Amino acid sequence: MNTHAKISKRLILVDSSQFQKEVPRSGAHLIFGSGEMADLIRAFDWSATPLGSIENWPEALLITLNTLLGNRQPNFLFWGDDLIQFYNDAFRPSLGFDKHPKAVGQRGPECWAEIWPIIGPQIEAVMQRGESCWFEDQLVPFYRNGKLEDIYWTYSYSPVRDAAGNIQGTLVTCSETTGRVLAERALRTQQDRLLSLFHQAPVFLAVLRGPEHVFEMHNLRYEDLIGQRDIIGKAVREAVPEARSQGFLEMLDSVYRSGEAFIAHNHPIDLQRIPGQPLERRYVDFVYQPMREIDGSIAGIIALGVDITERKIALDALLNTEKLAAVGRLAASMAHEINNPLSSVTNLLYLARHSGDLNEIHGFLDTAERELRRVSVISNQTLRFHRQSTRQQAVRSEELFESVLSIYQGRLINSSIEVQKKFRAQTAITCFDGEIRQVLNNLVANAIDAMQSMGGTLFVRSRESTNWQTGVKGITLTVADTGTGMTAEVAEKIFQPFFTTKGIGGTGLGLWICMEIVNRHHGLLRVKSRAIKSKSGTIFTVFLPLGPADS
Ligand code: ADP
Ligand code: MG
Repeated sequence: MNTHAKISKRLILVDSSQFQKEVPRSGAHLIFGSGEMADLIRAFDWSATPLGSIENWPEALLITLNTLLGNRQPNFLFWGDDLIQFYNDAFRPSLGFDKHPKAVGQRGPECWAEIWPIIGPQIEAVMQRGESCWFEDQLVPFYRNGKLEDIYWTYSYSPVRDAAGNIQGTLVTCSETTGRVLAERALRTQQDRLLSLFHQAPVFLAVLRGPEHVFEMHNLRYEDLIGQRDIIGKAVREAVPEARSQGFLEMLDSVYRSGEAFIAHNHPIDLQRIPGQPLERRYVDFVYQPMREIDGSIAGIIALGVDITERKIALDALLNTEKLAAVGRLAASMAHEINNPLSSVTNLLYLARHSGDLNEIHGFLDTAERELRRVSVISNQTLRFHRQSTRQQAVRSEELFESVLSIYQGRLINSSIEVQKKFRAQTAITCFDGEIRQVLNNLVANAIDAMQSMGGTLFVRSRESTNWQTGVKGITLTVADTGTGMTAEVAEKIFQPFFTTKGIGGTGLGLWICMEIVNRHHGLLRVKSRAIKSKSGTIFTVFLPLGPADS
């Protein structure tokens, strides 16, 4: 295909009367290159412009124009006082379909009316004073594809001089950066959002990099935890020196080495939160999460957690409340228990003093002695019950139950409650026995409360059993009563702290603490109850593994 055919084929698409379709213009041979713009410029009727036809153009224009047309970087040229326009193929896409091909041979201020207030003065500075300029990612909105578009440019304006040094035109070298600017902006908004999430997260967070665990970033909650310090860029051993003796560096090293997360609950940490002040004890739930590179290697660790100190203080206070309530209950029942045998001793001594029969006197004194032994048994049980066990101990279920029941002897009789015992479990379990006694005490006290007004039967049982979910062997302790029972609504809430149906007579903490203790022993606490008339009652079962619990 020859050049002419090529030109005409392209020009049919353009359909502008200024472009000649068949015969090349005179002087067209002075324009080189085979691109679309070279073709258009050759075919354009320049005689109608202040420049006149191509063969009369100054050498400076021809050299500049041919250089521009051969350039693959987007170039634009304003020439002469009228700022007549040329541009190359690389510039062409930035014009959309509104300005092209009209812009060829058009006067600058006409073509760019909407942005002339911006670029007019810049071009004038070049034309009048030879002042070049350069802008990076500059917003230059203009009409394109039927609408005003926000377009970003990196561009330079520079003077084009003729051989005599006079400024004849303005050369625009540019590239459109809209795509990159928008992409970068989108990325930045995402990063900003991530960052604000990071900072506002209701957890403390720190990013530690490398084997030395260097602080890369951390959020405000982290600062709240450790106190205001300058830690960015510092290794943990240097930034939080008090953590060194508390095992934290070993944990970090092991996470970094193994790539396995480390999770801790209720973990104490002593921190220098205010410079010069003594260390302050805080409690934290936290995780050290390994952070990986794309290739899977470990880049660092994310430390993430919550400061639970306040929660723990509140919890300890609650536990104390319940302990005090338990002590109160014990004191009351102890007085009650001791009162009965003591009054019978008083009676027996009175009878003995007034009897003349030595055998009878011996009988009275034997009984009195037995009653006094009962007193000492009761007070011993109460004390044992109260000693805080710090070590786990092997105990048998019978022992556990008997010590609890002995305390309630009087209340059971007064409330006409019959006790049925069946201790089938012979194996001892290793546990914090004081705590388990507390559990049984709560369950028995609740059962008595439930039968208070009408009497009934209290069943206490033990049997060997297996947790079928885990296969762990243990024993199951049962405390059941024929009392009032519970509606489904009540049963749903009984393990919540402060839930009680006993008004000021209850704390609502008993079962909540039972659950805590049983969980700590990796056991199970279950309840079945019904409140149907004449068939009401409640069964609590406690499964406890044989082995020692976590200390
Ligand atoms: P409190 O005994 O101080 O009320 P608990 O946590 O021990 O607190 O018990 C919570 C509630 O559970 C009781 O108020 C009662 O309504 C119900 N409950 C517990 N055990 C029994 C039971 N054996 N029979 C009927 N209701 C019970
Ligand atoms: Mg209770």
